[in-house]
Parts: sequence; structure tokens; C-alpha cells
Amino acid sequence: MSSIMSREELRALPQVQQPSYPDPAALESAIDTMEKLPPLVFAGECDDLRQKLADVADGRAFLLQGGDCAESFEAVTADNIKAKLLVQLSMAVVMTYAAQVPVVKVGRIAGQYAKPRSNGNETRDGVTYPSYRGDAINGFDFSEASRVHDPQRLVRMYNASAATLNLVRAFVKGGFADLRGVHTWNRDFVGNSSVETEYEELASEIDRALAFMVACGVDDRALSTIDFYASHEALLLEYERALTRVDSRSQKLYGVSGHMLWIGERTRQLDGAHVELLRRVQNPLGIKLGPTTSPADALALADRLDPDRIPGRITFITRMGASKVRDVLPAIVEAVEASGRKVAWVCDPMHGNTFESTNGYKTRAFADVVEEVHGFFDVHDALGTWPGGVHVELTGDDVTECVGGVHQLSEEDLGSRYETVCDPRLNRNQSLELAFMVAARLRA
Ligand code: PEP
Ligand code: MN
Repeated sequence: MSSIMSREELRALPQVQQPSYPDPAALESAIDTMEKLPPLVFAGECDDLRQKLADVADGRAFLLQGGDCAESFEAVTADNIKAKLLVQLSMAVVMTYAAQVPVVKVGRIAGQYAKPRSNGNETRDGVTYPSYRGDAINGFDFSEASRVHDPQRLVRMYNASAATLNLVRAFVKGGFADLRGVHTWNRDFVGNSSVETEYEELASEIDRALAFMVACGVDDRALSTIDFYASHEALLLEYERALTRVDSRSQKLYGVSGHMLWIGERTRQLDGAHVELLRRVQNPLGIKLGPTTSPADALALADRLDPDRIPGRITFITRMGASKVRDVLPAIVEAVEASGRKVAWVCDPMHGNTFESTNGYKTRAFADVVEEVHGFFDVHDALGTWPGGVHVELTGDDVTECVGGVHQLSEEDLGSRYETVCDPRLNRNQSLELAFMVAARLRA
């Protein structure tokens, strides 16, 4: 039987990237509240996802993990949640149908409210305040009051996550995700790009195939609901610790803030608090690996977080950058495979490809995103390993945050709908375009 790490135990561990709260008593009070709250996700669901990720590691399924870089409280609306879900369902259907591979669907959703930051301060016109660190920590507005780190925001994050998950569950189990509605998922957008025309054609084919199956007497319940899981970076240690629970069936510990939790590139120190906290829970874990990762680092992380080699436990999310992936990924994959471990290999083609446009926007080029995914597939093809999935920052809206893609967004276009509170996301068209590209590689 495991016990939950105490506040003191957590605080004795080396911590990076944590908020600094001016009022310690307010933090304790927020933690008192969170420790009593019901779980957002359940142990059995986490186990189901772990099993699906074991299929990914085995080369029998593909992971689509996507969503905002950072969610915001303001964006917790039915329309927003629906749009995010629809774009991911559309991408998944493209991949499933075009490549005939089961797609495991996981959102960066219902908990992705905090951002790691390399620089703690922001200066505008000679005025300096603490950086915005995500709605879980402080406010986006550039003012002294808004930028104070406030622990009550952790409770708000829980509530925003609960509201989001509630709607997601209703959507995916209540008929909204019925495959026979595949045509309607994109109805509002049809026809404004070649990708959408391609999507429409595919949707028509799917309709015909489904009608055929139903006519043949195939049980149609399987078509009407899907499994969709929630994931986020387990960045905020006090929140994640307070939302750890003992599963009454197995007596084991689970992080109950999301099904899959991942450790970021900046917080994966072997002896740090993030690794120690997540080592103790049973959830499937993601681990981001950037371009400076050595094969020994990856092996050490896997050994520490998964000594028993539980199938589906470890997903390595590599984010090397388009120009580096072909050079740095092979040695890491080879070393892990040589150890006899089976992990899921997933490509994050976003975080290694960020740059500042000449007009001052943090952006990414769609071409670089595609190039990193190609590099990822090429490396795995050459090694005979399975390219298990993609992890992308995207939104269902027609934002202008990444340049390129089917509409050939230019740097001048970035200003028209630049809405992210953190990193630039693929818009709906760019996301669909990526899905077709991935499907083509999976089919090849
Ligand atoms: C992220 O996923 O938003 C992120 C910050 O990634 P990384 O830890 O890989 O830099
Ligand atoms: Mn990001």
C-alpha cells in the first residue's frame, strides 16, 4: 500500500519552475480545499488509457495528443470546448480511415493552465512585472496586481478543469462524436480550402462505408461513442500532490487531475520533485525530450519512472526541432530499444520550432512542423521502430498564429487573429492538413 506524499516531503525535494506565493497561509488554505475535492478522473480510466498506450508502444495504434499550449479560464465556454474537440475528432478520423490504424485520442485539455518560463519577468516600456505564467498562477493583464501569484487560482483551475471535462464527457459519450455525424463536424467551414474539400470527400466515403456496415448488421453502438482522455503537463507540484488519491480497489496511488500527465523538458531532473511525485502514481506518463537529451538521460528517466516496465507507462515525446531530429533522435531510440524497453515514441513538432517573426510575434512555420514529423517518421522507418504518435498545439478556430499551411499565412497575417496566451497553435486548417500528411506517412 502506498501513501500520499506529505506537504513537507514534497517541499524537501529540489523544485524548479514553481510559483512564489507572497502569502503562505493562503497556499495552505487552498491546499486544504483541494485535498478534499473529488477526483477529476478515475483510476480505471487511467488504466484503460495505459493499455491503449501499450498498443501504441507495440505498433498497433497511433496517439493523437493535442490542444492549447495554455488553456485560459475565459476560454472555458461550450463553443470553445466543442471546437477543440471537433478538430481533434476530425484529425483522428482522417488518420483512422486513411491509414486504417486505431487512433488513441488525448487532449491537452482540462488542466493545461500553467506554463514553464525561462525568464521570470516581463518588461514593457521600461516597466517590469513578473511574467504571465498561466491562469493557474497569475493574470494575463500587464499590471502589478494581476501578475501576483495567487494560490486560489489553483482551486479555480480545478473548477475550470471539472467544467471542461464534464462537457467533454457529455460530448464524446452522448452521441455528438457519432461517426455517422462526421460530415457535420466541419459543416460551418466547408469549402474554404482544398484541405476541407479533401476532408469532405473522405467524410462522404466514410458515410458510405458506415451505411454499408450498418446494413450488414454490424453492431452500431461502437460507432456512436469514443474514448477521449485528458492530459496536461504536471507542472504545479502543490496542485498535483493535493490531487493524488489512493484507489480504493488497488490501494495504489493515482494522480486524479488528468488521465495522462507529462513532465516537461525543463522539469525532468532525475532527482527533482516532478520525477519523484510522478514516480509514485500509476498514471501513464509522458516525458518531453529536447535536442540536448543524451541516450543515457532517456534511459535513466525510464528506469526511474518505470522500474517494473509496465506496458504503456512511458511515452517519450520528442521535440527536437526540424533541423535536428534526424541527427539526435536515432541514438536515443536505439539506446532505449537496446535496453529491451517498449515505450511509445511520439513527436512534438511544435516546441523545437518556435521563433520570433520580424514583426514581433512568437510563431512557428507550418513547413517546419511538417518537416519535423517527416524526420521523425524517417528515423523510425530507418530503425524499424514504430512512430507512435504526434503531440501538437492546436485550436479549432481560424487563428493566425503559425505561418504557412494551406492558406499560406504570412508574417503580416499574424496580427489578424493572434489569440494564444502562450505558444502559437495550428489553426483548424493547418491541423487537418497535418492529419492528412500523417495519414499519408502511416499508409506508406
Ligand atoms: C509545452 O508542452 O507547452 C512545453 C512547454 O513543452 P516543453 O516542456 O517540451 O518545452
Ligand atoms: Mn507550448
